Amino acid sequence: MRTVQITNHKMNGEVYKLRKQVINILYQAKDFEIKLPRINVRIGTATKKHKNVLGVGGNKSIWITEKAINKGYEYLLHVVLHELCHAVYDLDHNEKCKLMRSVLDKPCGITEAWKIFKKYSMKGGK
Ligand SMILES: [Zn+2]
Repeated sequence: MRTVQITNHKMNGEVYKLRKQVINILYQAKDFEIKLPRINVRIGTATKKHKNVLGVGGNKSIWITEKAINKGYEYLLHVVLHELCHAVYDLDHNEKCKLMRSVLDKPCGITEAWKIFKKYSMKGGK
């Protein structure tokens, strides 16, 4: 499981705790009755060439940076749901969508992020 934008962290106690925060969001999706396939989750750091990248998603895998996790729940939720849209529903960026905009300046609110994600989940992708 590799991507050019993010260097994977090796799994240890600290990384496990970070990863758990991402996994919890996947569980929350299930609580909201959003069905998801098995997702590979990697935690890492953006590489020099891609230093502004917060996450990457595709082909049922997501990579989330430690930076995104440390920015707080609202921010992390936005990044995780955004990457899941790429990874599960194969969505492209959409500058008109607050969740799928290519650049994240301000994260969606928690309620709004879930609402948009649920909408995409019901459509089942493009
Ligand atoms: Zn994206």
